[in-house]
Amino acid sequence: MNADDRTGPRPQGFSHRELREMLGAHVLGALGEPETVALRAHLDGCASCRADLEELAPLAGDLRLVDPDRAPGPVAPPRELGVRIARAVAAEAVLREHRDRRAVRRGRLRAVLVPVAAAAVAAVVTAIAVLPDDAPPPAPAVAFEQLPLRPLDPAVSADTATVVPHTWGLEVRMVAAGFGAGQTYRGIVRTTDGRSLPAGEFLGTGAKAVTCNLQTAVLRADAVDFTVVDSAGRTVLDLPLPVVRAG
Ligand SMILES: [Zn+2]
Repeated sequence: MNADDRTGPRPQGFSHRELREMLGAHVLGALGEPETVALRAHLDGCASCRADLEELAPLAGDLRLVDPDRAPGPVAPPRELGVRIARAVAAEAVLREHRDRRAVRRGRLRAVLVPVAAAAVAAVVTAIAVLPDDAPPPAPAVAFEQLPLRPLDPAVSADTATVVPHTWGLEVRMVAAGFGAGQTYRGIVRTTDGRSLPAGEFLGTGAKAVTCNLQTAVLRADAVDFTVVDSAGRTVLDLPLPVVRAG
C-alpha cells in the first residue's frame, strides 16, 4: 500500500478483467509501460489479483520455455495487449501439460494465465476461459515447486529452480550461470532409498546464464535431492527436495 493517488481497483480505464488478463504477461515482463503502471497500481488495492500473481510468479520460467510454434490453438488476432508483447508465450501449453494433475485446481490459475503473443508473428493465443471474479479461490497450486538452489562452487550463481512432477518422473528447470564454458555438467537425483540416478546433462556457458531443463525417470515422491556435478564429479549445485506425499 502507498499513498499514490493512482492506486485503486481500476486505474486508467482498464476493466478488472483486462487487468487480470495482464498478470500472465506481467510475470514475463512482457507488458508495455502504461499497462505495467496500471497493473501495479491496481495490485496495490486488489488482494485477489495479488494472490493470482503470487501463484503465477513461479510459473514464469515455465512459460518462457514454451515454444511458440507448439502453442495450442486457437489463435486470435491481437487485441489491446498484442502489439506490445515482446515474447511468444502460450500459457495454456504449460497448463495443458499439467491439467490432469489434481494439484492444479481448475479455474483461477487458468483464468488469469492469459497467453501472450509471439514476438515476430504477433499472434495472440486466446485467453483461456475467464472465470467470474467472484469465483471461489482454489487451493494453491502445488504441481510446480519453486525451490532455492544452493551453489556449492563460488563461480556458480543460481537462484531458484522450478520442479515439475510429471507422471513419468520429475523435471528441474533452472537458470544459472558460472558453469565452465564447454564443460559437461550432469544432473543427479538421489532417491529416498539412497540411489543416485542420472538427471540429464548440459554444457557450461561460462558467465552467460544457461537455461536448463533436466529430466529424470525418478518420481518426485521418490526424490530427496537434486545436484549438479562437474566432469570431475564435484558437486557444484544442490537442490534439496522436500518430502512430498506420494500421489
Ligand atoms: Zn484485481
